[in-house]
Amino acid sequence: MSRVYNFSAGPAVLPEEVLKEAAEEMLDYRGCGMSVMEMSHRSKAFETIIQTAEQDLRDLMNIPNNYRVLFLQGGASQQFAMIPMNLMKNRKAAYIITGQWAKKAFSEAKIYGEAVEVASSADKTFSYIPDCSNLDIPEDADYVYICENNTIYGTKFHTLPNTKGKNLVADVSSCFLSEPTDVTKYGLIYGGVQKNIGPAGMVIVIIREDLITEDTLAGTPTMLKYKTHADHNSLYNTPPAYGIYICGKVFQWLKKRGGLSAMKEYNEKKAKILYDFLDQSKLFQGTVVKQDRSLMNVPFVTGNEELDAKFVKEAKTCGFENLKGHRTVGGMRASIYNAMPMEGVEKLVEFMEKFEKENI
Ligand SMILES: *Cc1c(COP(=O)(O)O)cnc(C)c1O
Repeated sequence: MSRVYNFSAGPAVLPEEVLKEAAEEMLDYRGCGMSVMEMSHRSKAFETIIQTAEQDLRDLMNIPNNYRVLFLQGGASQQFAMIPMNLMKNRKAAYIITGQWAKKAFSEAKIYGEAVEVASSADKTFSYIPDCSNLDIPEDADYVYICENNTIYGTKFHTLPNTKGKNLVADVSSCFLSEPTDVTKYGLIYGGVQKNIGPAGMVIVIIREDLITEDTLAGTPTMLKYKTHADHNSLYNTPPAYGIYICGKVFQWLKKRGGLSAMKEYNEKKAKILYDFLDQSKLFQGTVVKQDRSLMNVPFVTGNEELDAKFVKEAKTCGFENLKGHRTVGGMRASIYNAMPMEGVEKLVEFMEKFEKENI
């Protein structure tokens, strides 16, 4: 067996300890004589799995009692519709456009009501986060929407927007559990889990209780109402059971590592190794303004497309996988989520140093 350093933006690297433990439990989950994949979601064993997972997530993020945690299907993209269907009481919402994922959420919201673009960084190919301290937010907007970490462009909101009292809704898919979060600042936080937590197809929604109502847009399917899932503790129908099980293991792994403050410290050190190298390199450059850099996704370029392609190819032969940038931006991108060890980034930088010497 040989594992590569996987810099994929998602689905992405998971902690090796978690994968090993899941492998050990594959045929016989703790004396049940069956895999978690094969067991009833109404069984005692699964009840313990989902309840423990929720409690561990609550502990990690310090989630207040007036917020519900929902484990849902449809990935992050399903939320692009589910959010307006459930929260657009006045049929109006403010969107901050900082990349592809925000744009997609914005387009979807327009199907259901008036989605207003209140800020954007499209003018400079989303290489920065716009100033959101004094936005022109409509008086009757139901919420203000952000994509907190922009997976494709490598920017992150290090300061949350001033929403002028409106509920903040955030897509945290690619920065989920990478650092502590003050949940009370949000009305709704959600993320697809395949970037930093678990297997694809599942999304975690953390929503303030008063936002869960029967009063959804006409025609909202039962499965797309937060209330349906909240009323049944995410067990209205068969949930993504195996995904919840793996997420639960990752929560325990994070707790063992000291929780989110410890993760933040580790992630800052790890990202600094790569950013420090980029800042002095004569060949490679980061593409994002310094103060808005993400700790999770690091895009960079040589400025020469052929050389970029050569780099990605040679890196692959040396065991560094998935460094090609997103198809819409080109260049390279190293995603260095929680489960990417320090050593992976150190070795990548060594490889980049060598490549620089050979190609300059
Ligand atoms: C990957 C990603 C998505 C899409 O997730 P799916 O689970 O594929 O729908 C949405 N938002 C962000 C920020 C992402 O990184």
